[in-house]
Amino acid sequence: MRPIVLLVIDGLRRDSAQRFLTTPFRLVAEGRGGYLPMTSLMPTKSRPSYNTISTGVPSPQNGIAANDDVRMVTTPSIWTIARSHGLTTAASAYSWWSELYNGVPFRKEEDAFTVDGTGGIQHGFFSPRDSEPDAVVLAYALWLWQRHHPDLMLIHPCSVDYTGDCWGAETLAYDETIKVLNLLLESLFTALWRERPEAIILVTSDHGMAAAGGHGWDAPELRQVFFFALGSHPGQSPELRAPVEEATALDIAPTILHLLDLPIPPQMTGRQLV
Ligand SMILES: [Zn+2]
Repeated sequence: MRPIVLLVIDGLRRDSAQRFLTTPFRLVAEGRGGYLPMTSLMPTKSRPSYNTISTGVPSPQNGIAANDDVRMVTTPSIWTIARSHGLTTAASAYSWWSELYNGVPFRKEEDAFTVDGTGGIQHGFFSPRDSEPDAVVLAYALWLWQRHHPDLMLIHPCSVDYTGDCWGAETLAYDETIKVLNLLLESLFTALWRERPEAIILVTSDHGMAAAGGHGWDAPELRQVFFFALGSHPGQSPELRAPVEEATALDIAPTILHLLDLPIPPQMTGRQLV
């Protein structure tokens, strides 16, 4: 079984990724992985989308209807299924992921650094700020990787979403934030694979971003995201299968469970992309 890193870049729409997220596209061009266009589900909001990605079930059937629907999810997720089979999970992410899979309320002092917790995400750095610099989120991810050797790890930088919400997607600020993150990904991927060259890195986004900022409704620039599966060298690269209809966020959870050799529950109706 190969370890999986799930990188969810919050609020990065597809056309902007195609222009500025050159690191994963270069790896694909080098034969080190695959790329698929992906459609995010409604509502194009963060908390329901995190849970669609994790449970393979659409909102609100997955237990989360809106951003202010703050509760711990009981629908099985990649996190709880991995833990129930004895795998090690970790996350460097926004605190909403701790609320979803570890419990509510989020207690800043106790939960920001979670070590060997009993929830779905066993080890974590959970920032209560969506303005947390991406460099900090990535640095903690690398520390968790080296310290705990997770089988499944989430990395969730939020700066692209934060900048888009503040200034809009068709702005220099949004573009520059993606470019900065893209540079950070070069060194992050190298460091992750230096430790464990067999790891598979999956890259996606929870939703897009409107030209004038914001998301949540149904529009192409909010629904169109992307999915990468990457390996450290061509011999390690996962083959992506393009479904007949465009891949959706429902396909991520069954794909991850398949890669981890874990059972896929019947409520996950998405397709395995590898
Ligand atoms: Zn989001």
